[in-house]
Amino acid sequence: MNSLPSVKMDENYRGRLKEFHTKDDIPAEWRDTPIEAFILSQNFGWPVQPSGHPELLISTCIEFRYALPIPRMYAYVIRRASGRVIGSEFSVGYTLSKGVRNLVLIGHNDCGMCKMSENAPGVVAAFVEQGWSKEAAEAYVQKHGTRHAIEDELDSLKDEFMRLKTLFPKINIAPLFVCLHDSRLYLPEWYSKDLGCEPAYNHVSDQLIASLP
Ligand SMILES: [Zn+2]
Repeated sequence: MNSLPSVKMDENYRGRLKEFHTKDDIPAEWRDTPIEAFILSQNFGWPVQPSGHPELLISTCIEFRYALPIPRMYAYVIRRASGRVIGSEFSVGYTLSKGVRNLVLIGHNDCGMCKMSENAPGVVAAFVEQGWSKEAAEAYVQKHGTRHAIEDELDSLKDEFMRLKTLFPKINIAPLFVCLHDSRLYLPEWYSKDLGCEPAYNHVSDQLIASLP
């Protein structure tokens, strides 16, 4: 029996998520896109019909309690601790070159990356077990911990959504939140179509690109 509470009951997320009760709850800007098809598939059991070419890039956490319900020949997937793309921008560029124009960014409840200060000693010990020196392991975890640690799953999802909108302004990006209890997707309350959009924005700064890890 799964003892995880549903996000609907969890006070960390109360009032911060919108449910997809019906197809009409999906934001209009995602209608008739692979993003809509993905939500319908995961929440309403609609079958995903792979077209034979990649339709989506999905970025989510490495979390083992979440299995992506997707067939082959359908999507590229980036799975990293916390689900943020940061450090994998090259992979995004590659998928764009293959025709992908829709990115689904999925956060989840009870993310271990919210507890990095608690988990860091264990990660250091794991590296030491592999033969790394304690100093090198600590320095590495210190350096990379900041790229992986988050304070709040929904705030972190928003920050990453805004960052990606700035870097990749011409693709559709859907921030979603999955409940580990039942794998249902939710829409963050903070989402709006125009968030992070600059209509006249047509150039990504060289400085921003050079600052990528
Ligand atoms: Zn996680």
